[in-house]
This record gives sequence, C-alpha cells and structure tokens, in this order.
Amino acid sequence: MSNSRKVKKILAICLLVLAVVISASVMGFVFLFTSMKEDVRNYRQLTEQSLLTNPEIDGKAILDTEDVIENKLAKIQTITMIMCIFIIADVTLAFIFSVIMKHRTSSQMYRYAYVDEVTGLPTKAKHRQDIEKRISEMDGELAYISFEIDKFKYVNDMYGYAYGNYILKYVADGVSKELSEGELFSRTAGACFGLLLNYHDDEALRARLLTMFRKIGHLSGDAKNDTIYNIMFNCGVCRVKNKDEDAGNIREYANIARESAIKLYDNNIEFYDEKLQKKRDEQEQLEFEMRPAFEQKQFTVYFQPKYSTSGETIVGAEALIRWEHPTKGMIFPNVFIPLFEANGFIVKIDYFVLEKVCMCLRSWIDEGLEPVAISVNLSRVHLYDPDLVNKLVEITDRYQIPHNLIEFELTETVLFEELTYLFEVMASLKRAGFILSMDDFGSGYSSLNMLKKLPVDILKLDKAFLENLQDGELTSKDKTIISHIISMAKALHMEVLAEGVENENQKDFLLNTDCDMIQGYYYARPMKLEQFDAELRKMRNEESVTLAQERTSIMN
Ligand code: C2E
Ligand code: CA
Ligand code: CA
Repeated sequence: MSNSRKVKKILAICLLVLAVVISASVMGFVFLFTSMKEDVRNYRQLTEQSLLTNPEIDGKAILDTEDVIENKLAKIQTITMIMCIFIIADVTLAFIFSVIMKHRTSSQMYRYAYVDEVTGLPTKAKHRQDIEKRISEMDGELAYISFEIDKFKYVNDMYGYAYGNYILKYVADGVSKELSEGELFSRTAGACFGLLLNYHDDEALRARLLTMFRKIGHLSGDAKNDTIYNIMFNCGVCRVKNKDEDAGNIREYANIARESAIKLYDNNIEFYDEKLQKKRDEQEQLEFEMRPAFEQKQFTVYFQPKYSTSGETIVGAEALIRWEHPTKGMIFPNVFIPLFEANGFIVKIDYFVLEKVCMCLRSWIDEGLEPVAISVNLSRVHLYDPDLVNKLVEITDRYQIPHNLIEFELTETVLFEELTYLFEVMASLKRAGFILSMDDFGSGYSSLNMLKKLPVDILKLDKAFLENLQDGELTSKDKTIISHIISMAKALHMEVLAEGVENENQKDFLLNTDCDMIQGYYYARPMKLEQFDAELRKMRNEESVTLAQERTSIMN
C-alpha cells in the first residue's frame, strides 16, 4: 500500500473513532439532560410543597432527589472528560502518524530520485550533481567514462528481463568493487553506465578499464542458470583537465566516444579527442546535406553481380547504394548508413533503391532480355512499419515486376529484434512471393540452432568466414566449419551464397562444397548499371550462341 493511502486509512479510522466517541457522548448527554430535567422539576415540586403547601413532606425525598441530580452531574462530568481525552488522544495520534508518514514518504521519494532501483547505484540525477561537485573540487586530473554492455538487448531477448536485471546488478556490483575513494559511478540509462575516475595517463586508464571489463565480463558458473556468457563493453572516455570544465559537455563527449567505439570482438575503448569531434562534425554535415543531395540525385545504385560458384553464370545481383558527392567524391555506405539508420533517412533510400531496381527490370523485360533476380537491402528500421509489405508490393506492382525477381536481404543483426514478430514479417514477405535472404550470416550472434528457424530462401555467408587466411589459404578448421554450415543450410532447403570471395584459393575451396553462389571482388566489384547491363547482355548473347551451336550440332 502506498504511503498516502496508508495515511488516509489511518486518518479515516481516527475520524471514525472520534465520530463514535462524540456521538456516544452526545447521546449520553441527551439522555442525562432529559432525565435530569425531570429530576429538577421533581425537586422543585418537592421543595415548594415542603415549604409552602405540604410542610410535613418527607425531607428524605428531597435529599434523595438531590443525590440523583448530583450523580447525573458527576456522570456528565465523567463523559465530558472521557470525550476530551479521546479527542485529544485521537488528534495527537493522527498528527504523530501523519508526521511519521510524511517523513517516510520524503525518504522514499529521495530513494526514487537518487537510488537506482535495479542496481542500487545513484541515479543519473544524483550522479550529475555529484560529478559537478567533484569536478568543481578536483585537484588532480579526472576522466569521465561512459560505457554500455554490448548487445544487451540480446541478453534480455534470450534470457528475459529478470536475467537482464541480474546482469545489470552484477556489473554494477563488480565495477563498484574496483573504485577508489572519490570515484563516482552510476547507471545513466538502460545498459549504460557513467564513471568518474582518477586519471594519470591514457595507457594506465585503458589498462585499468580493460582489466576491469575482462574480469567482470567473464560471467561463469556462479551466475544464474549456470549460463556461461561473456559480457563485452563499449566504452568512451573524456578527460577532465580542470575544474572549469562543463560536466554536461564532458558526459556528452564521453558518449560520443562510446558511440564511435568500433564493434570488434573485444571490449572497445575509445578516447574522446579532436579527431572524433571532427568525425562527429562530418556526420552532422552529412546529415545536413542528405535531403538536398537526394533531391539533386547524388545517390546512385550500383550492382554487384552474383555468380554461380563456377563463375560461369551471373545468377543475380545485389543493389548497393552510393553517394556521389560533388566535392567529397564517392561516399560509401559504411559512412552514411549507420547515420541514416539512426535518423530514419534509410527508409527513403531503401524505397529509392527498390524503385531503381524495378525500373531496370522493367526495361529488360520490355526489351525481351531475360533478367536475373536483384536483391535490395532492407534496413531493420523498416521492420516495425506495419505497412512495410504493402508498400514493397505497391512499388513492385507499379512496374509490374514478377515478385520472384526481387530479393530482400535482411542482415543478421535483425535477429536481435523480437523474433516472433520478425519471423511474421519474414513470412509475409515470402507469402507475397519475394525471395528472402539472410545477409552476413555468422558475423554476430546467430547460432546453428537459429539456422533451423530462419524462414529464408538464401543464406549469405558473411565474408568474415573467408577472411581467416594462413599463407593465402583457409585453415582446415575454417574449411570444416564453412563446409558443414553450407551442408546444413542445404539440408534445410536453403540456397547458399558466399560473400567476400577475393581470390582463387577461396573460390577453389567453395567449388568443392555445396555452395550455390559467389559474390566477391574475385568475380566482380559493385558496378554502375550500364556496366552490369553490358555484363548481363554479354552473358545472354553467349548463352544464345551456345544454344544455337548446340541446335546446329543436333541438326547435323
Ligand atoms: P552488405 O549488404 O554485406 O553488402 C556487401 C558489401 O561487401 C558491399 O559493401 C560490397 O561492396 C562489399 N563487398 C563485395 N564483395 C566484396 C569482397 O570480395 N571483399 C570485400 N572486402 N568486400 C566486398 P558496400 O557497398 O560498401 O556496402 C556496405 C554495407 O552497406 C552493405 O553490406 C549493406 O549492409 C549496406 N548497404 C549498402 N547499400 C544499402 C542499401 O541500399 N540499403 C541498406 N539498407 N543498406 C545498404
Ligand atoms: Ca547485403
Ligand atoms: Ca553481406
């Protein structure tokens, strides 16, 4: 029960007791006064009779009546006293109780405002006040650190919120144990934490943080469910050089550094510096320019052919966006896609790419050139648009393109989304007749267990599988893993495409597996439409020449 409800309840009880006591007293008074009135009248009669009309009247009766009246007066006195005592006690009790509850409420409000419920750490608000104070009183250098648990959403999705909270508390406790006097720590949002540490030099701080993160990150048997799970952290650092620095700016800079910490397979620590600020400024500039650039047709679609593993046939192509900037030259998607995903502009880009792809297919079909299926990357940002499939169908149908000529690539990171919902979206894309592929498979957290659940037609093996080369050769262990994943996907009725094939060794190895398709620099880089168009025509011409030759040889 909340404190205010408790106070109300107790005050209501006090009021009720008071009401009962007052009404009982009033009833007592009424009864006593009424009967006393009778007694007084009686007494008057007796005394009058005795003095005037009937002197022999018994004096004892007069005295008895006096006794009765005195008795009743005493009762009235007692009732009045009891009533006063009750009123005083009741009011005092109510007063004491409301004071206690007020005190409790304000200390609870303090807890809500200043203590984080999940971790027991100071809240963001308290942390802000504390770091401002600490900076204003600093004598040595300090560093502000903003860090987050990497892929925390995955923990919540896989193990549930209770386990997610357990991890947050575990991290909070682990870090708290590592702090020295005067160092501050708080959870600032979700899986993000803020730390104000003493600073000596970058390397010492980096080493301290890495040791701390590795120690805390290794969560083994003692954790709930015996789950062995390695926690990684992305971390940004901003030095606090003197007491005049603005605490808000410092936190912001550390956040910028954290956001730019590159996602590798280890804890990432990035220090805020001018280079980073420059990168941030450049991103802001791109964000400022993106809409006019779109209007001015600076975005172009490139096509990277997909080949049959032998390299003989073009079996499809992937449409890839490029920004042809008038002064900066070609800007590649890895520079702007994360930015566009964050600000939502990617939605416009993806529909634009689909429309361009449909236009190309339409012109090939109209010309009588047999087209190949073209894939379009669908950002995860689209997933929560309930109208997504209808919009994709509308664009495709506007150009009257058979749906099986359009493939949508969803990158593996979508698997961090709510899976039931994600699979529903995927199923409806398939029901609409589109081809669906899982891009970058194996680059992150996808497990073999996930493989059997994926409702996709094509599995695109991430290029990282082919990157582990020794003397230009894949190791035998890597070969075993790749060929088994391919066999498994095939057994689950998926086609397999290997991405990032750059050399002959990789291609030769894939030729000995069940891999269906190859995409990579070895066969072709992403190219302009005109060039891809020429490649497609060349292949179709060669095919018709071969067909004609076959026909002639049969006829001869
Ligand atoms: P992705 O979907 O995995 O696309 C393949 C990327 O690998 C392309 O980079 C391609 O140029 C590159 N690549 C192809 N063959 C090789 C190779 O042999 N070696 C190496 N090292 N790289 C190779 P790109 O075009 O820079 O695109 C990067 C990423 O940006 C794409 O990765 C995709 O995730 C995203 N992207 C590109 N265009 C779009 C788009 O229109 N919409 C969305 N949502 N994302 C896009
Ligand atoms: Ca792709
Ligand atoms: Ca890919």
